[in-house]
Amino acid sequence: MPELPEVETTRRGLARYVRKRRIAALAVYEPRLRWPVTHDLPKQVAGQRIVHLGRRAKYLLLGLESGTLLLHLGMSGNLRAVPADTPRLTHDHFDLVLDSGLALRFNDPRRFGSLLYTRGAPAEHPLLATLGPEPFATAFDADYLFRITRRRRVAIKQLLMNSRLVVGVGNIYASEALFRARIRPQRQARTLSRADTARLVRGVRAVLNQAIRAGGTTLRDYLGADGAPGYFRQRLYVYERRGKPCRRCGTPVRAMVQGQRSTYYCPSCQK
Ligand SMILES: [Zn+2]
Repeated sequence: MPELPEVETTRRGLARYVRKRRIAALAVYEPRLRWPVTHDLPKQVAGQRIVHLGRRAKYLLLGLESGTLLLHLGMSGNLRAVPADTPRLTHDHFDLVLDSGLALRFNDPRRFGSLLYTRGAPAEHPLLATLGPEPFATAFDADYLFRITRRRRVAIKQLLMNSRLVVGVGNIYASEALFRARIRPQRQARTLSRADTARLVRGVRAVLNQAIRAGGTTLRDYLGADGAPGYFRQRLYVYERRGKPCRRCGTPVRAMVQGQRSTYYCPSCQK
């Protein structure tokens, strides 16, 4: 499933193809995505210049002259730049055709992705308005994490994965960040010290940065009709390593289920 690093990698990979380009056409082949693509959307966006390609949480934001397209990759989606006449494959659901002759082509076997348009400020869109800070924003710092963990009995891992408190920390990254911070995933959030929250902020940023950097090495995959998208490969410390020796101390990694998600940790390194 595309997580924040994959979405950010997609943004960086596509930025050079959309810069200063105009949308020649939006061709919708399958409007039944997570939310239907509205029938008048092609008319609304055709002819508009793309002024910005941004990201908020896992949404790509294509800033146009009169509004913003919000694109979500869903569970299985990817967006790549292809020559517009490239034959379509199964699960190619729309083409955002640019005046350069390239198209941004969206492929999504499970159709949980979405393409929405707003004329207002994207930050005020109902899907974005309730989101917590970005993990790299100055608003997400040790003081903030310390403040929001007070009096909360919820396990710290589940708090980290709550997008109303901080966005973009999926299951893999929560496990890996907690390992880096040497904090057990099942600890009650309120028991974290100020030093713990400082280490955890650093851990979250380190693991996301590592994934983004790893994805950046395969950016060329975003141009071309074939080949896997440039999803990252990274060296994981605990995730899906149940029973294997901890890379730091050699103790077998433990696994447990928290909120229906698998969690991995080292019982020696993490307290
Ligand atoms: Zn260990």
